[in-house]
Amino acid sequence: MALNMKDNRTVQILAGAAAGKYGVLAAIAYNIEQLTALVRAAEAKRSPLIIQLFPSTLKQLPTLAFAAAAAVSQASVPLSLHIDHAQDVDHIREIIATLPVDSVMVDMSHYEEAENLEKTRILAKECHEKGIAVEAESGRINGGEDGIADTGDLEALFTSPEDVDNFIAAGIDILAPSIGNVHGDYGPAGPAPGQLHFDRLESINKQISDRVHIALHGTNDFPPEVMKRCIENGALKLNVNKLLLEVGNEHVRKHAADTPLVKLLDEGIRIVQQETEKWMDICGSSGKA
Ligand SMILES: [Zn+2]
Repeated sequence: MALNMKDNRTVQILAGAAAGKYGVLAAIAYNIEQLTALVRAAEAKRSPLIIQLFPSTLKQLPTLAFAAAAAVSQASVPLSLHIDHAQDVDHIREIIATLPVDSVMVDMSHYEEAENLEKTRILAKECHEKGIAVEAESGRINGGEDGIADTGDLEALFTSPEDVDNFIAAGIDILAPSIGNVHGDYGPAGPAPGQLHFDRLESINKQISDRVHIALHGTNDFPPEVMKRCIENGALKLNVNKLLLEVGNEHVRKHAADTPLVKLLDEGIRIVQQETEKWMDICGSSGKA
């Protein structure tokens, strides 16, 4: 981990989770209501939280990053603002030059490994010069989510021991391994038995030996026990999207036609807050702020 990143909010939150052996939600918001629900949950549970925005959301709602940054600086619990799956080099440079973000996922996983590493190394240096921490994806996690380009024909590549050392050498702060996790849905029962390689996660964690932190992507449909097992095996930054937000989307789908707008928004915020609080309890971050 780059020494000059010790004061970085995202790195501090993850260092706290590592020391306390719990996981921290890194939660996507697509709009201001979801952002509000996430922050209220963190305050209510006295939990640290990483707020995540997709690059596509930065283009769709250009002021949302500033709202999130205001929430981060005004909160009474440790929060940070992270940009998830930034896949375009020019956009990454624009983001770090213009937006008040704490960390960025420099996702060059759609390139072949050598180019992925080289681009990651250059961008990590540029981010660090601005005090911004960097996450990268080693190997390739398959699938797509609302806000991330689908990997399409590219094959999933599991993270190897060489990948781990190569990415640490590229100067990153957070590693997102590919261990059978996928973007998108697993199905109502969650990952199939054997689909997630817990042994691979455990050995990656041992190999890392506290040099960087581990982010786990692809948590849609996770049952609580799967999430807990990932945390036990070293995952600290738990990327969540549909796992928290779907209950709110479902509410809108059911009640939009016959509920006044302000009431609909109020109820949606409350429902997503409740779901977020539940997962903070499951991940063990409640009361840790
Ligand atoms: Zn992801």
